[in-house]
Amino acid sequence: MKLSQRITQINGGGSDGWGVFYKARQMVADGVPVTELTIGEHDIRTSQDILAAMNASAMAGHTGYAMVPGTDDLRRMVADRIAARTAVPTTKDNILITPGGQAALFATHMAVCNPGDTALFIDPYYATYPSTLRGAGAIPKAIVTSPDTAFQPTRAALAKAAKGATSLLVNSPNNPTGAVYSMATMTAIADTCIANDLWLISDEVYDTQVWEGEHISPRSLPGMAERTLVVGSMSKSHAMTGSRVGWICGPCDVISRLIDLAINTTYGVAGFVQDAAHFALGQGVEVEETVAAPFRRRRTLALEALDGQNVVRAVPAQGAMYVMLDIRATGLSGEAFADALLEAELIAVMPGESFGQAAAGHVRVAMTVADEAFTDALGRLVRFAQNHAKVAAQ
Ligand code: PLP
Repeated sequence: MKLSQRITQINGGGSDGWGVFYKARQMVADGVPVTELTIGEHDIRTSQDILAAMNASAMAGHTGYAMVPGTDDLRRMVADRIAARTAVPTTKDNILITPGGQAALFATHMAVCNPGDTALFIDPYYATYPSTLRGAGAIPKAIVTSPDTAFQPTRAALAKAAKGATSLLVNSPNNPTGAVYSMATMTAIADTCIANDLWLISDEVYDTQVWEGEHISPRSLPGMAERTLVVGSMSKSHAMTGSRVGWICGPCDVISRLIDLAINTTYGVAGFVQDAAHFALGQGVEVEETVAAPFRRRRTLALEALDGQNVVRAVPAQGAMYVMLDIRATGLSGEAFADALLEAELIAVMPGESFGQAAAGHVRVAMTVADEAFTDALGRLVRFAQNHAKVAAQ
């Protein structure tokens, strides 16, 4: 029996650079003590009081079908949070609650792209982007950035790619690079969208993790609210990755269409999970800062570990839970470096190549282990790189 092209071609094909990740996972399963600095998951779990709220809601009977667009309370809470942070008038009718940011990325592209439309995204990129766009029927097209511009897309590159495209997906704070887009970058993005009549999908799941600069939501720029769909999530901000709860914020008529899609796909998000998210957001910004604090601290530890040498250079990470390291001085590709580091030092990092061609010769380090183990791993990574650089220079 033949499967659809939609599903068989979702992953594109070719090496996706995730071999090191799976190898490390297998080693851990075999009992090998690997330090895993690979995926973006906190080393803490969802807090007990959020779980207590979830439990109380479930025990009180919120276990039936929940409202498909989301509960009124949570939609209002998300709308108020966005309005307070961006000064863009936002009501519950601008919000659809989704099972996490990933589902929101898919749904937004389903909403704006016809089959065969060109959907732009920025390289380096979060690993699922091209396949999510393909899954929605679009043709993904990368706008390649450069370490020389700290991985911020340039106005010229945006303008060149935009002709004939339907949508542009951006992510700031960025996974994998940690870049937080400047006002100049966001203005260039907005100007490009307006000039070329593009939809903008703004993935803001790391908006609570900004170490330098300021998070700018492009929906707040002039003329952008009517063409921007913001993707948000409780995963990173509240360590609720497993709860699968996020949202889309956009124009009311688009949200109304997205509700039609939700009725026919997810049929909403568990009511007790939504109540837990409502409780969590109601705890205010201190909770978000507490969840973000270890990454802020470890970013400083990472920069200290790299001090006094120039074989491994950090791309200036201004946000998110990762540091991107330039290891080109070792003469190795990101993939070869990550593979050799895993074998020699039992440290697992992600090859830059897993996130697109712009990040070749880099590795991404997730700051997701305890401070001491993190500092130790980075010290060993630097020494390993220095030894390789010496061999390369001989
Ligand atoms: N967007 C980015 C950039 C991410 O890094 C992730 C997860 O790692 C997601 C979206 C999806 O997050 P979730 O589906 O858990 O909300």
